[in-house]
Amino acid sequence: MSVTKSVIEKVKHMDPEQKEFHQAVEEVMETLEPTAERHPEFVKNNIYERIVEPERTIMFRVPWADDKNNVHVNRGFRVQFNNAIGPFKGGIRFHPSVNLSIIKFLGFEQIFKNSLTTLAMGGGKGGSDFDPKGKSDAEIMRFCQSFMRELFRHIGPETDVPAGDIGVGGREIGYMYGYYKKIRNDHTGVLTGKGIEYGGSLVRPEATGYGAVYFAAEMLGTRGHDFKGKRVAVSGAGNVAQFAIEKVNQLGGKVISVCDSSATIIDEAGIDNDKLRYLMELKNLRRGRVSEYADTYKTDCFEGKNVWDVIREQGIKIDVALPCATQNEIDGANAQGLADNGCFCVAEGANMPSSPEAVRVFQASNFLFGPGKAANAGGVATSGLEMSQNSSKLSWSRDEVDGKLLNIMKGIHKSCLDAAEAYGKNGDYVTGANIAGFVKVAKAMIAYGVI
Ligand code: GLU
Repeated sequence: MSVTKSVIEKVKHMDPEQKEFHQAVEEVMETLEPTAERHPEFVKNNIYERIVEPERTIMFRVPWADDKNNVHVNRGFRVQFNNAIGPFKGGIRFHPSVNLSIIKFLGFEQIFKNSLTTLAMGGGKGGSDFDPKGKSDAEIMRFCQSFMRELFRHIGPETDVPAGDIGVGGREIGYMYGYYKKIRNDHTGVLTGKGIEYGGSLVRPEATGYGAVYFAAEMLGTRGHDFKGKRVAVSGAGNVAQFAIEKVNQLGGKVISVCDSSATIIDEAGIDNDKLRYLMELKNLRRGRVSEYADTYKTDCFEGKNVWDVIREQGIKIDVALPCATQNEIDGANAQGLADNGCFCVAEGANMPSSPEAVRVFQASNFLFGPGKAANAGGVATSGLEMSQNSSKLSWSRDEVDGKLLNIMKGIHKSCLDAAEAYGKNGDYVTGANIAGFVKVAKAMIAYGVI
């Protein structure tokens, strides 16, 4: 059995219940097989087996009191996966689905994603099964403080630098960073995604969505296309989706969908900038449902369905898909639905939104398919830029940060294509992203010896 296959077997055997983690490992290891032949030193140093084992896994109790003084307890996680090329770096997710498998899959992906950015960042991820939905501001604050009351001892600006993810945005980062600052008595910018007044970077809120669209534009360019006049489906309605829509609008495309956990809306007229402002106010300030958008703008609303179900069932024609919601949101049947309805380009704004069956459909149908670890790396890349600004006590202008983000996304796109070509897999962004991200980390791990 090849070394990469035996690693997949071992991971499944050791933690049989960690399905999402298996999926992420399998997707990466399958494409890394040829690196073992070309780099016997990776095999000799057992890098494949070492890289799937986190450096450290921290699990902790997070007790908190609600507004009526009822006491609750949630579970907190921080998986410090790999710090070969820089401090552990990756977001924190608050969502009821969070468990060790999900945090390990996200942390594992983050190793390769962060490596692709070319910045000095290792991979990590954290979170809790806490459900922010319906909680008051005061409850969110108390939860964040309790979470940080334990996390603070494990992180630091040169050790581990968390940020946001699903359920963790500017408000939560503010509460967590404020608490860290209070108990550590230092202002070292240990979290990224901070508010602009206290060490955040311009363009960080926009960066994941903008970056995914920049990446998609690069992919489209390889076939002589751009966003002008393209019909684009976006899923999700949070931070990534919102700024992906903004950038598609700037580039002349038309976004016809968004969704949340309750419904999908299809707006044939396109979500223009005015409607986008409304959506931002609805989701970020009022924390309402997309069905309100449908009521306000008299658009179609499909309760209990995601964007990909609706495209397949209603036969909605689109050119480009930007899944910006969550893992495994596109199954095989819905991927086929995209192919049948004219879609030929997918850039993943979320982490692992396409199931393995969906990825097989995209590849068999000759899609331009940008996997999350490449296409959504703009967020963490701009976190890296925030870290640089914090350590130099400077803040860069919007144009400077946006320019760097664009260059980083172009660079990631080129690295993917170059690595794919070097391994005889022209145009295969999945193989290219995995190999380009992996080789750098593997070489660093070898340099350190067996530690
Ligand atoms: N959660 C984001 C991601 O999946 C951002 C992480 C960060 O900025 O550290 O990459």
